[in-house]
Amino acid sequence: MIRQAKGKTPRRPPPKKPSNSQKDPVGVYCRVRPLGEEDEECCIEVISNTTIQLHAPDGLKANRNGEFKETQYSFKKVFGIKTSQMELFEDVAKPLVEDLIHCKNGLLFTYGVTGSGKTYTMTGSPGQGGLLPRSLDMIFNSISPYQAKRYVFKPDDKNGMEVQNQIDALLDRQKRDSQTSVPKTPTARRFDPEFADMISPDEACKAGGVDEDSSYSVFVSYIEIYNNYIYDLLEETPFDPIKPKPPQSKILREDQNHNMYVAGCTEVEVKSTEEAFEVFWRGQKKRRIANTQLNRESSRSHSVFIIKLAQAPLDADGDNVLQDKSQVNVSQLCLVDLAGSERTSRTRAEGSRLREAGNINQSLMTLRTCIEVLRENQMCGTNKMVPYRDSKVTHLFKNYFDGEGKVRMVVCVNPKADDYEETLLVMRFAEMTQEVEVARPVDRPICGFAAGRRQRNQAFKEELTRRLEERGGPLDGDSPTVLNQLLQSFPPLPPCEISGPNDDVTLPRLIEALEKRHKFRRMMVEEYNKTANMLKSVLQEQDSNLLSKENFIQEQRGRLGEKDKMIQNQKNEIDRLEKKSKMLEYKIDILQKTTNIYEEDKRSLQQELESREQRLQREMSEKRRMESRMQGIVTDAKLKWEKECERRVNAKQLEMQNKLWVKDEKLKQLKAIVTEGKSENREPQRPSREKDKVPAKRSASPSPVPSPYNGSQSSLSSLEPIYYFSQTIRPDPHFPRPGSVSVASCISEWEQGVPHSRRQGSQSPPDNRKRAQGLPDSLRRRRGRCWAREVPVQPAEVDLEETGHWTGPPVRPLHRRSHSAGGERWVDHKPNTNVDLDTVLQPNIPNSIKVNAPNEKALSKCDKYVLTHQEVASDGEIQTKLIKGEVFKTRGGGQSVQFTDIETLKQENPIASSRKRRSSESGPDGEPTEGSWTDVETRCSVAVEMRAGSNLGPGYQHHGYPKRRKP
Ligand code: ADP
Ligand code: MG
Repeated sequence: MIRQAKGKTPRRPPPKKPSNSQKDPVGVYCRVRPLGEEDEECCIEVISNTTIQLHAPDGLKANRNGEFKETQYSFKKVFGIKTSQMELFEDVAKPLVEDLIHCKNGLLFTYGVTGSGKTYTMTGSPGQGGLLPRSLDMIFNSISPYQAKRYVFKPDDKNGMEVQNQIDALLDRQKRDSQTSVPKTPTARRFDPEFADMISPDEACKAGGVDEDSSYSVFVSYIEIYNNYIYDLLEETPFDPIKPKPPQSKILREDQNHNMYVAGCTEVEVKSTEEAFEVFWRGQKKRRIANTQLNRESSRSHSVFIIKLAQAPLDADGDNVLQDKSQVNVSQLCLVDLAGSERTSRTRAEGSRLREAGNINQSLMTLRTCIEVLRENQMCGTNKMVPYRDSKVTHLFKNYFDGEGKVRMVVCVNPKADDYEETLLVMRFAEMTQEVEVARPVDRPICGFAAGRRQRNQAFKEELTRRLEERGGPLDGDSPTVLNQLLQSFPPLPPCEISGPNDDVTLPRLIEALEKRHKFRRMMVEEYNKTANMLKSVLQEQDSNLLSKENFIQEQRGRLGEKDKMIQNQKNEIDRLEKKSKMLEYKIDILQKTTNIYEEDKRSLQQELESREQRLQREMSEKRRMESRMQGIVTDAKLKWEKECERRVNAKQLEMQNKLWVKDEKLKQLKAIVTEGKSENREPQRPSREKDKVPAKRSASPSPVPSPYNGSQSSLSSLEPIYYFSQTIRPDPHFPRPGSVSVASCISEWEQGVPHSRRQGSQSPPDNRKRAQGLPDSLRRRRGRCWAREVPVQPAEVDLEETGHWTGPPVRPLHRRSHSAGGERWVDHKPNTNVDLDTVLQPNIPNSIKVNAPNEKALSKCDKYVLTHQEVASDGEIQTKLIKGEVFKTRGGGQSVQFTDIETLKQENPIASSRKRRSSESGPDGEPTEGSWTDVETRCSVAVEMRAGSNLGPGYQHHGYPKRRKP
């Protein structure tokens, strides 16, 4: 019973709460009319069923510098010149009519320049009915079996629709019939022959899904908007042939649902296509008359034909229309034939006509602006105000654009060249309009009553009629068997034989009985009505319950649908994610495998690296060993060769000196002979000792030098101050000798009694020399050697023969530390790097301070110093040297150590050493290869050799060599 739709029209959703988020663009269609007979050039070509192409006509091309312009425009559908009215209707208007029947609003307008076929499309011509007659025809074809009796639906004056009961409707009908001026329901044949056969019967259309349990009524209005005034074309005005009244304009109003309507506009209820035609034709006629009377051009007016369809559900019996205004549903379809869209200049209007044309164009301009703003608002999300109120047309239809309802536009174009520029503007407007979206209308709510009420009622009525006919006449419409039973239950009638017209007994008795029966019957009827009403209310209640349940079910279904959709979406998402995860798993697998391969590679490489490192280390240690061995060998070889070189140089020097000596001798002898020849009284030749002296005196001639150390510094002069006797820690032959002394010259000096240093400007004290002069020869030799030193030095007990070895830088005279009563104290310096060699005979130094690095404190307390030094000998064995020295106090307050002795400890393999020894004794070319031992021997041999040419003893030869001790 609850119908939610309001009995107002057009429906509009409550503001700010759009009932439907779905929107459809304005459907824009294009119809191209055929060229007229007088027109030659065609500037429009239909490319496809959605696209047309405009070519600029030849004349226009010339005007625009020969620029050839082609533009294409697309539509929802394009209808070419061969399109029939029926085809157009099927595509464009039929869906709107279907919507209308299903309680949805629609707006259809034709747009184009004058002569483009707007009126032809909307109205059509005989045999070629346009959209309007076809729409009406379809409506009536669909609803005619379910139409309500006339005046059951009654428009109020506020755009609403009321519903009347049968009796009121009947009364209204009787009232209208009594008014002779108003024609009765017309018959088809009474129509204007022009419109009588607009639609051939085989083209009849019918909408599907019409609700049979509703009652329908169609109302039509026809208005014209001219010069921004609204005129009602169906208004009945008493015609005054003498002084015709100009038509009164109407105003627009907004109803309680914010829908716009023409206030006081005539709405004619029509019951058939023909009747509707008739009404339309009436309006057309009136329009034509007004245009003629007022000298207007019909092309400059907009005509609006409004079809309203009122529908309300039948009551529960399916007999009458439900008497509930809220259940009345009104939908409307507006068919608008707009004025020509051409510009003012083209209408060739003047004066008041120009103003009219301006207004017409103004209203189209407003329509254009409204569409533009709408589009902008929708596309850019802006909220600009749409200027609907600027013109009557836009104001009237604002609900269609703002609210819901289908909007369709047929753009009519004439392909003739003259219209080209106007057509361009029309196309641009059409293109823009297509971008505007209008909310999609929602479905009509389901009626609360059980379906099939009308049919059941129909069937019941038919059955009743049949039975009554069987009984030979109607009996108050009640079932005969029930009636008989009722009649039998009544008190029996008294005997009613009337004796005469004045029978005062029977008649009153009969009257009384009949009155009783009548009263009884009335009571029964009342009872019946009461029960029926009760039953009805119960039924209604149940119906409403059912409805609410159905609504609930519907709602739930909607939700279910939404949920289903959501589930579907989620399923899709899950599918997608599953696919993705599979993909990723696959990728991970691949990566894992790659990682494994790399790891294996890494492991093998690491192993390889390790093995290589080990090999490298082995090789390195091997190399180090080799290096140290090679170093030892190199050192030995160097030493050996140096000694060898020295030996040879010395030998050569000696030889040369000897030669010189011999020559000198010869010269002397020659001189002596010459001198003898001069003075024969002279002394005989001196003994050899005297001869020896001669060359010594000759400072210019070099003396034979036995020193093996230095061949280049044979001159004593440069050596004198730099050597002194002392044992040193430098047995290293590489250490440069500060100089060497010529033994021969020393001897000659000695023999002459003149110290060598003296001659060289030495600072040696002269008393030393004097003391030496008084000594015996052997001693003199020694002493002479001694005072030839700048540094006196040396402990008296040190034997020159044993200790003579010159090295080191010049050292200033040192003061020897006085020995304490407790005996000598030693600093025992053993570096940490030393290796324990398990030597059996280890040096034992009592009363010593053991250090592993030189330490001044320890030195200050001691007067002897010993360093235990290890090194690799030439044969690869480690030898330990104990380098001994004495500690002196320096002038600066520090300590200095003067090394005096070296003890060498060495272990050796007896076999290896004997072999070595052998090999060293005879080198490849017979020359000795081994170091110091052979060296000494060589030197000895040199010394012996030298002695052959001199008077010097072997003692002289030996004293300068370092003394070595065998370990
Ligand atoms: P408008 O209303 O746009 O000014 P009309 O509908 O009056 O134009 O058309 C002008 C003329 O063109 C009419 O005579 C009409 O019969 C004709 N016409 C228009 N469209 C067509 C068409 N599609 N097929 C045949 N004739 C047409
Ligand atoms: Mg027209």
